[in-house]
Amino acid sequence: MKDNSKKHTKVLIIGSGPAGYTAAVYAARAMLKPILVHGMEPGGQLTTTTDVKYSGFAECQGRWLMEQMKGQAKAVGTEMITDHIASINLKSKPFEAVGDGGQKYTADSIIISTGAQARWLNIDSEQKFRGFGVSACATCDGFFFKDKIVAVVGGGNAAVEEAMFLTKFASKVKLIHRRDSLRAEKMLQKKLMENKKIEIIWDSVVEEVVGDNEPKNVKGIKIKNVKKNKVEELKIDGLFIAIGHDPATQLFKDQLNMDKEGYLITKPDSTQTNVPGVFAAGDVKDKVFRQAVTAAGMGCMAALEAEKFISS
Ligand code: NAP
Repeated sequence: MKDNSKKHTKVLIIGSGPAGYTAAVYAARAMLKPILVHGMEPGGQLTTTTDVKYSGFAECQGRWLMEQMKGQAKAVGTEMITDHIASINLKSKPFEAVGDGGQKYTADSIIISTGAQARWLNIDSEQKFRGFGVSACATCDGFFFKDKIVAVVGGGNAAVEEAMFLTKFASKVKLIHRRDSLRAEKMLQKKLMENKKIEIIWDSVVEEVVGDNEPKNVKGIKIKNVKKNKVEELKIDGLFIAIGHDPATQLFKDQLNMDKEGYLITKPDSTQTNVPGVFAAGDVKDKVFRQAVTAAGMGCMAALEAEKFISS
């Protein structure tokens, strides 16, 4: 008797950023009938980004780009399923995965494209006000800070872009960085310095977020100048954390080889992990390039390698 609670596919793609969608397009075009499992907000990190650099488009919005990729993957025959894979067994043949609602999947090959998630400072008061004035996504929440004062933490491209984006709404943006030089590209730094609404606070770390409890909202932050060892309180209405990302690889712990930061390790010039038939593409295995176009390229590689694996 057919087990309806189990779905079998030749290629199970987990995650829906540029890597996952591109893998789906190539797998579907190879007649592998892939299943792509994505979370409640498909599209990954790019859906919360504004301007994205992507070959062929002079200007392009992240959310729009992901909708195009999703549409293309669907049109060529990918089955898209909203689910969250809660457990996975990479020792069994076929591989087995179970969604958190109990849906079982079996697959001849798996492409992992689960991406990376925003990093937090992990201080108690930050978590307390998360969603009430503390955010890791300026494009999602910037709108709520019209004519208000906000701060951004970080010194990379993301922090600089978020600070500039927030000047569309906020009256003042304070960029707080723990060192005395930024990691962001020089071109972005130049634009940042030219923006009169932005003030950079160097050598400083956030020690505490201060605010009201009823209703919960942010009133300020305590920051420490690490060189002078001096703490001061800044009055702000919102705090945006932009200090990088962690790969979403918890599910594969003890089954796949990872580096010390948790990024999946693949063979040189390949998306092949240490388990034959399991491939990894995009930010989940890449902490160097982390671009939509490189993730998409890896998605393509993974699908071609999965096809070769299945046919052999
Ligand atoms: P990132 O380049 O890793 O920068 C993270 C920043 O946060 C660094 O300045 C780091 O400080 C700081 N930081 C890390 N942990 C911290 C902590 N606990 N407390 C305070 N500060 C902390 O991350 P990203 O800016 O998210 O960018 C990720 C990747 O995406 C990069 O490769 C970037 O080029 C790319 N990206 C590209 C674009 C674009 O091309 N337009 C836009 C966004 C992102 P230190 O400098 O002291 O280490």
